[in-house]
This record gives sequence, structure tokens and C-alpha cells, in this order.
Amino acid sequence: MKTDVFITGGGIGGLTLALKLVRAGIDVVMVEKLPGKQPVYKGELLQPKSMQIFDGLLVYDEVTSNAQIIEILDLIELSKTLHVKDQSFMDYTVIPGKYNAAYMIHHEVLKNIIRKRAEIYPNFHYINSASCKGIEHDKALVQKGKDQFEVEATFFIGAEGRASVTRQAMGIKVEPIKYNHHFITVTFPRPSNFVGGQIFSSYNRFLGLFPLPDNQVRSVYLIPAGEYKRIKEKPIDHFHKLYTDLAPAIDGYVQKLEDWSKIQLMIPIMYHADTYVKGNKAIIGDAAHAVHPMAGEGMNMAIQDADILGELLVDMYKLSALNVENLKQYENVRKVRADYLIHLSHLSALAYSFPFQPVSWIRSKTFERMEEDPVLHFKQMLNVSGLGMWKESVRDRFIQGGMMPTRKKDLPIEKKEMKLFSSEDDYPWKWKGLL
Ligand SMILES: Cc1cc2nc3c(=O)[nH]c(=O)nc-3n(C[C@H](O)[C@H](O)[C@H](O)COP(=O)(O)OP(=O)(O)OC[C@H]3O[C@@H](n4cnc5c(N)ncnc54)[C@H](O)[C@@H]3O)c2cc1C
Repeated sequence: MKTDVFITGGGIGGLTLALKLVRAGIDVVMVEKLPGKQPVYKGELLQPKSMQIFDGLLVYDEVTSNAQIIEILDLIELSKTLHVKDQSFMDYTVIPGKYNAAYMIHHEVLKNIIRKRAEIYPNFHYINSASCKGIEHDKALVQKGKDQFEVEATFFIGAEGRASVTRQAMGIKVEPIKYNHHFITVTFPRPSNFVGGQIFSSYNRFLGLFPLPDNQVRSVYLIPAGEYKRIKEKPIDHFHKLYTDLAPAIDGYVQKLEDWSKIQLMIPIMYHADTYVKGNKAIIGDAAHAVHPMAGEGMNMAIQDADILGELLVDMYKLSALNVENLKQYENVRKVRADYLIHLSHLSALAYSFPFQPVSWIRSKTFERMEEDPVLHFKQMLNVSGLGMWKESVRDRFIQGGMMPTRKKDLPIEKKEMKLFSSEDDYPWKWKGLL
């Protein structure tokens, strides 16, 4: 079998890349080791940049009609006795333009939308229950059932998540950093009026609730690393109480979970590959980086990688500029952005990692000041959204730390717009004639 681009892994990153390529007439073979749906929970929060990308791929309407919009994320800090002590929020609508909201969508529904759209094109060859075993001499070895076959390709893209065979074939090692906490995660029914995201925290507890469509809610609850087995030994009522203590609004709903069967353990890790490209191979998404889930970025980073690499490959084919050196343009754009989001997610994780009262106090004051200062708030939302990158200044740090007063004046809309990534920022090779 021969193709232009061979993609290992039909997760969200691989599928987004495939759709981008097949629309431009590029031949794609994708192998996915699973026969059907993923058996585990995965990312479900779509940040604004991902929505912009999906708009470009003509799936925006289908995605939004299958998703729950989230404009505001409430951050609720509880006292030791679990009464509301402080409340602040993150507001996506401070971002100018069409893409000023996040969306919650079932992971498999999203994958299905993108895969179905790609399958319209005869140059997309999706092979499920097929595992890539390795890549050597411009050939990928694929195992499907008892059969093995080779696929010859011009480019090989690793989109196979954390355990990446492509990364291995490229000789790239990553060193995962672990955290002192894990999460339990599960989806269950919610009240129909529970439509905003909510994060509840006290000095030693954390619960995130993110509404999905169909009156469901995805939850993540922080537990100390290694405690899962012990917690799971308790009756299910214990789990219900962990949740209802913090979020009384879900009392009567979380109890719909009658046993532990759907409740999963989620272990956060962080790593970042030194390079994303070697010869005619490149890695995207979790194959290239893993990010703490606190800021809801993992899936979005995979989509954003796919967009930049996809646009680059399309241009390389259009211009017959298939020199593998050109693939570096992808890494040049994406690595620095990923680095910053990994750093931000890591900081958010640390803010909830230490079960001490002073940490809880500092956290709530920091969030309060961020909400009060329109410049800080905009920076935070811009960075999280993926639509731009505006690092915090020394002054910002002083304001957050309470050593300087918060600014009262919002930024003019033109200034905010200037901070959004332009097409030149996203695809610099087009403008600088680099191919
Ligand atoms: C429990 C959990 C919750 C998460 N929550 C969030 C969230 O709320 N928001 C967010 O943004 N991110 C979240 N993430 C992270 C997010 O799901 C990932 O970052 C994202 O799915 C990465 O996409 P990907 O396409 O790179 O890899 P994956 O989604 O891991 O897809 C890789 C695919 O490759 C296949 N594969 C692997 N090896 C091979 C092989 N050798 N041959 C063929 N196929 C192969 C796998 O079966 C899989 O389908 C969460 C992750 C987990 C585990």
C-alpha cells in the first residue's frame, strides 16, 4: 500500500489533520488500533481556537449543535466548613470576535463528526483495529488481526497519543513529570439549569463540573496520588457525599451513579518532546506533549498542532515543496505556544496541589484580582483560548500578588484584536516565502 501521508492514531489530533489534508486532495492512510469507541473518558472542553479551526474545516455548526456552550466558568472557594467564602469567574466573552466561548462535547461525538466529514473524500483511507508496530525505511508496519502489511508513504505523522511508536521511531525520549494528586472522573445527569462551568475548591478539596449536552455533566475530583484503590473500596454513598458536600446543586443527580463502574482514575502527567520533527516524520498532540488537565488544553493543543501541520503539508503539496526540511515550520510555530500552555497548566495545577489554608487564601485572592483587573482577565482568557499569547508582565505579577492596585480601565477592542494570532502568526511560511 502507498500513500502521501500515513497517520498513526485516529484520535482527535490525527482526525483533524486527516480532514485538513484530504480536503486538499492529499492521499491519507490512517490506522487506529481500536475497533470503535474509546473505553475511557478523554478531553471534552473545546477552547475558542479549536472552534475557529473547526469553522475553517466547515464543521463548526455541527460541533456547536452537539455541544454545550460555556461562556463563564465560576471559581468558588469554600471555607473549612464548606460555605462559600469567595467567588470569582473566568469570562470567555472578554475575547473579541466570533470565538468567545468554550464548548463541551462528548469526545466520541466530536471524533465521529470529524471522521464522517473526512470519509466523504475517497482519498481518506481509515483502517480501524489496525496497529502501527513501527516505521523503518519509509515504510510503516501495520498489524490488523493476524495480518501484517506495510504502508509506504512520503510523510509519517504520529498522532497516537502518549505511547507513540512514531516518536520512538524518531528516537525522541520524553520524561514525564508526575503530580502529588490524581483525579477521579465521571459523567452523570445534571439539572437542566446547570449550564455554566463550576470549579469548587476548599483548602484541601477540588471538584470541577463541566456541563455536557443532553443534561449531563462531566466531573473531575482531586484525590491524593495513590488513594484511588482505597476510596473505591468504600460504598458508593461515600463518593456521592464527596460531591454533594461541595456542590449541593447536584444532590439527587450524582446519586444516579449506582456503583463505581463508570468512575475512572485520571493520572495527570506533563512532558514536552525536545523536537516534533525528524526527517519525514512528525508528531502531534499527546505524542509531542502532555499537559496537566487543569486548564482543559490537551485536546485543544492536539487540534492546534493538526491545524498548523495540516496547513503546512497542504502548502508543501501545492507548491511541490516536499523537502522534509520544510516540516520544521510546524515546530517553529507550535513549540513555543505549547511550551507556554504547558507552563500555564502546570501553574494552575500547583494552585490546587497543596492542601493548606494559606494556599487557599492566596489562590482566591489571586483569582479575585484577576477578575477585577480587566487587563489581567483578558490576558488569562486570551492565553487559555489559544487565540493568542500574551505573557504576564512584572506589573501583572505585582497586581496579582496584591502589591499594586488593580487597573480599572479595560483595553480598547482594537488593542485586544491586535493580540489575536493573525494568519501571518499561524502560517508564517505563506507570508515570508519560506517554502
Ligand atoms: C481522562 C482524561 C481526561 C481528559 N480531559 C481533558 C479535557 O477536559 N480537556 C482537554 O483539552 N484535554 C483533556 N484530556 C487530554 C486529551 O484527551 C488529550 O490531550 C487528547 O485526546 C490528545 O489527542 P491525541 O489525538 O493527541 O491523542 P489520543 O486522543 O490519545 O488519540 C490517540 C489515538 O491513537 C490510537 N493509537 C495509539 N497507538 C496506536 C498505534 N500504535 N497504532 C494505531 N493506533 C494507535 C489510540 O487508540 C487513540 O485512538 C484528557 C485526557 C484524559 C486521559
